[in-house]
Amino acid sequence: MSKLLQAIRGMNDILPEQSPLWRYFEGAVASLLDGYGYRQIRMPIVEATELFKRSIGEVTDIVEKEMYTFDDRNGDSLTLRPEGTASCVRAVLEHGISNNGQVQKLWYIGPMFRHERPQKGRYRQFHQIGVEVFNLAGPDIDAELIVLTWRLWGLLGIRNAVTLELNSLGTSEARATYRDALVQYLAARSESLDEDSKRRLKSNPLRILDSKVPETQALLIDAPKLADYLDEESRVHFDGLKARLDAAGIPYVINPKLVRGLDYYSKTVFEWLTDQLGAQGTVCAGGRYDGLVEQMGGKPTAGVGFAMGIERLILLLETLQQVPEEISRQVDVYLCALGEAAELAGLKLAERLRDQLPGLRLQVNAGAGNFKSQLKKADKSGALFALVVGEDELAQQVIGFKPLRGQGEQQNIAWSELSQHLAACLQQA
Ligand code: ATP
Ligand code: MG
Repeated sequence: MSKLLQAIRGMNDILPEQSPLWRYFEGAVASLLDGYGYRQIRMPIVEATELFKRSIGEVTDIVEKEMYTFDDRNGDSLTLRPEGTASCVRAVLEHGISNNGQVQKLWYIGPMFRHERPQKGRYRQFHQIGVEVFNLAGPDIDAELIVLTWRLWGLLGIRNAVTLELNSLGTSEARATYRDALVQYLAARSESLDEDSKRRLKSNPLRILDSKVPETQALLIDAPKLADYLDEESRVHFDGLKARLDAAGIPYVINPKLVRGLDYYSKTVFEWLTDQLGAQGTVCAGGRYDGLVEQMGGKPTAGVGFAMGIERLILLLETLQQVPEEISRQVDVYLCALGEAAELAGLKLAERLRDQLPGLRLQVNAGAGNFKSQLKKADKSGALFALVVGEDELAQQVIGFKPLRGQGEQQNIAWSELSQHLAACLQQA
């Protein structure tokens, strides 16, 4: 016998038992975003490698060591997207849909790929729902993004388990001045820096701020603070955001060390964190990227967005036992038929019921079997009611209507009254 093949490490199947929760989650987010006027965009999963190098930045973890990059048969370098913002910006530019200041409020959902060390809450194929807004430069829209995620946590019942961290990175000019001061401070103490940070000192010094190495952390205590270098415009913007969050009653913590892993952020950055999932605590993260569109070859265009990790949020729902019970029941009614003539009548009845009761979740027994085995399958399906047709029922043009969850006795219902009776019973259930 040949060896069974397995899925790639860090890339998971989402099995049928799990899918209802995914659909519930995705549905909740989609209708929430509809309610705030966001429109869905669907981008390809594979893009030119150049796109991510140019947008995410050459010296980021993602581009340096996490991308799935390969040459296709024409010798072009392609990459499985590690995130969605770059593709979204490319699409918006390619189709000219944010030209002339036209506002776009967009969202997307789908798999992302990063070659990381797989562990709980961290995978090589994972899924994000992302939101991107173009051509709105004020703090009002930053606030809206946070307000809508806060509403989502409320709808999902996980509000008490997440906290919001905020920071402002300032404009790129302010950041450049700060970067010089930070480099000067750290370069004078470089013998105490870890190897990664030494390298970053030249390539991407701001990333040293979120180093996890204790010695580096200690060194940073007296380092220059980004907040002291914030330009006036960014300060006003940040104050505007905080005022709106205060007005909306959304609690937050200012984290001066929050810099985010991607190069393209400016002004606002934020993360929603939980302490319920161990090390992989960020469930949603984002920020403003006013320079990105121009950097990608477009006109100067304000941009702001976030992405949430679906696996981590699903894990959180499970951990907090916030999985609604009704989503796991996939079948309302199970139809059993004994004998060929009864099967034919059952098929016709089932299709008529589907016509009359749109949305009805009706499973028709397949693979024959005696009544006992069919009823066993009906019970196992999770259905609330079984419908039974045998020779007698066929002769009388009735159906055996059997409650499976202790809501009364089996009774015969005339075919002509079946849909009405079933609808009433389902409503009561
Ligand atoms: P982390 O700090 O956890 O590595 P990140 O800063 O790399 O996250 P982003 O690029 O901002 O993450 O992606 C947004 C969200 O996507 C994260 O907050 C997280 O919820 C989710 N996410 C990122 N990488 C992974 C992964 N490898 N597996 C599962 N979810 C992920
Ligand atoms: Mg990461």
